Amino acid sequence: MTLVHQATTPRVPESIRVQEVACNNCGSTKFEVVTEGRDHEYPHTTSATFRLVRCECGLVYLNPRPATSELDTIYPPDYYAYQIIERRQRDAKGKGSASLLRRFMDAQAIRRFSAYAKLVEKDAPGPYRILDIGCGDGTVLNQWKGAFSTDIETHGIEMNEAAAAIASAQGHAVTAKRIEDTPLAPDAFQLIYSFHVVEHVEDPTSFMRAIHTALRPDGLVIIDTPNVETKDFYAFPKHWGAYHFPRHWNLYDAKTFTALAERTGFEVLRVEYMPSAVFWNWTFHSMIWARSPKLADRLFPPVDIFLRGGPWIWTVMSAFTALDTLILKATGRTACMRILLKKKP
Ligand SMILES: [Zn+2]
Repeated sequence: MTLVHQATTPRVPESIRVQEVACNNCGSTKFEVVTEGRDHEYPHTTSATFRLVRCECGLVYLNPRPATSELDTIYPPDYYAYQIIERRQRDAKGKGSASLLRRFMDAQAIRRFSAYAKLVEKDAPGPYRILDIGCGDGTVLNQWKGAFSTDIETHGIEMNEAAAAIASAQGHAVTAKRIEDTPLAPDAFQLIYSFHVVEHVEDPTSFMRAIHTALRPDGLVIIDTPNVETKDFYAFPKHWGAYHFPRHWNLYDAKTFTALAERTGFEVLRVEYMPSAVFWNWTFHSMIWARSPKLADRLFPPVDIFLRGGPWIWTVMSAFTALDTLILKATGRTACMRILLKKKP
């Protein structure tokens, strides 16, 4: 179905291999162009311009997109998720224990996750096995351990080997592969979750089917992903922060994600929306970067926002969180959605 070719148009330099794809939700190859953009977060990786399109069914997707042989190019060694993990390791070594901020963030996460853990414990008998797809260094799995009222068995899948090794060392059962290359045991888990992964994968339909197979009949699935049906998407059509060119391959809203979920054997329990200061930071970075990359990197650092700390970063993150909280109150939505799913009876 897909055609892998060396790019020949001037829009995509020959430095990166691209692949044309059909809509993952309906198979159509008809679309309208939403926008074009390039990587402003890791501009050293490629100067290629990528095109984002909208299918007649509503799905927004990158087309053409980098070939899978280019994954090491578009996820460079300084990719932020990897750097956060390194930073956490350094901090932990330096202080001998988790920092105050780290402990505060863990406590907040455990409080939020407890509501979901209660939902799992109400519907499904234990002992509980949970799976984190894209588990990083295991930080979120640790938080889930705190959220359940009983001991749980924690599993993870993580394609970054260094991160997977750290998660394993913390006692989680981790497979250091891409989800696409990891066969999952059937009926194995009462809770499967995946935060900001589905928009990156090659084939979200196969991704959701694999989750369906691995989920117990009474289990719960939680997926976090960007939401295009939001005010800021329409307000910043060229610079919306969640484009994340060229790493976000499929961008959903509640309607298009529900179509994916129902087609793969799920029913949607509910959709929740959360403030996302980071997407706003990337929106502003993109806008300013087009004119002055240096100024953009200083004011709204795309990677260091997670690492640098200090009063300016604190101010930026607080202001964007406040703004997004207002937008959430006013419109009921933000650019960051969480979908809770059950298997269809
Ligand atoms: Zn479609």
